[in-house]
Amino acid sequence: MAADCIFCKIVAGEIPATLVRRTDRLVAFRDVSPQAPVHVLVIPTEHLASLAEVRDGGLVGEMLMLARDIARDEKIADDGYRVVLNTNKNGGQTVFHLHLHLLGGRRLTWPPG
Ligand code: AMP
Repeated sequence: MAADCIFCKIVAGEIPATLVRRTDRLVAFRDVSPQAPVHVLVIPTEHLASLAEVRDGGLVGEMLMLARDIARDEKIADDGYRVVLNTNKNGGQTVFHLHLHLLGGRRLTWPPG
């Protein structure tokens, strides 16, 4: 657990979040500022600041598979959805604990802003 990391505090239950799923290595919860009808964040319980710190690619695979399963549970799989992994400043990352966004429930535009 990293000091002053808001997502580590969610993993530890020290600040509230609306949990969607929990596995041995991952936690999924609803984004506090949703950008689509379904906006879920999937994070590892281990503190990794960004994709750049990942050594175990299997962990990212688990994050993707969990997002896929949540999309099915949220009934957005057939219409479609987007997974996003913002990295560092130009990627728009604001919370430096690795997280994947699952967005769906409306038609998303492309290219991103
Ligand atoms: P990013 O800009 O990719 O780093 O995304 C960070 C996301 O975390 C944003 O979509 C925020 O709305 C979300 N967020 C920040 N604090 C919380 C929180 N306490 N609970 C849920 N989502 C949060």
